[in-house]
Amino acid sequence: MNILVFGAHPDDPDFKAGGVAYLYGRAGHRVKFVSLTNGDAGHHQIGGVELARRRRQETVEVARVLGLAEYQLLDNHDGELEPTLPNRRQVIRIIREFEPDLILAPRPNDYHPDHRYTSQLVQDAAYMVTVPNIVALTDHLRRNPVIAYLSDTFQKPYPFSPDVAVDVGEAMEAKLDALHRHTSQVYEWLPYNAMRDHLVPAGESERRVWLAETYQRRFADAAERYRDLLIHLYGPERGRKVRYAEAFEGCEYGSPLTAELIPRLFPFFD
Ligand SMILES: [Zn+2]
Repeated sequence: MNILVFGAHPDDPDFKAGGVAYLYGRAGHRVKFVSLTNGDAGHHQIGGVELARRRRQETVEVARVLGLAEYQLLDNHDGELEPTLPNRRQVIRIIREFEPDLILAPRPNDYHPDHRYTSQLVQDAAYMVTVPNIVALTDHLRRNPVIAYLSDTFQKPYPFSPDVAVDVGEAMEAKLDALHRHTSQVYEWLPYNAMRDHLVPAGESERRVWLAETYQRRFADAAERYRDLLIHLYGPERGRKVRYAEAFEGCEYGSPLTAELIPRLFPFFD
């Protein structure tokens, strides 16, 4: 299968789908991450071309760690993404050329405008990817792909309501190794922005331990939040034991994520 994951920034797909990406890759499927911006606003000390290039190099390393087919960054400015026609055409082209069986993307309700417009752009490309006269020189798809939303905790106007939750325990070290490669983010910008930069250790191995302590809790919270769904999909014995999870909700604008399709598109429940 081909799995295409969209994010606004070069690390968004990793946080929300780094675990399943690793599991898909290990099972021989092709996974591609796309960041619709180049990430050139995600720092407090550097910016512009220096930051964009640094972040691109981080994604090259992440692709190796997670076994991705590709980690593509579009050259849109971070913090300024808009749901324009040129951007929609770009997203349509990317989807058509990769021929995904499954697309993962953020929901339209989110604190960050780039995240909201990434969602909007993917939703706007859904269905249009099947229309031959749209972006006419790139072959259209005969079938609208299944699209599922990445998880979030925003409550209004309606909360994330997952159809699928995946045990990513076996992928947790790889996911943390991938996040560890986003040095400019997990050890610099994000702690600075959250006024926690004084907590980040200096040494490489100490940082990796701190990273695990900081983020594992978040992935464990997801397992607790979606416990009923995990039990439904894995059965009570394994479902109760899952420690870390990633969850996904079918988007109505893609092909329907039916009960029969779930174990085919997410082949993790045996
Ligand atoms: Zn982001």
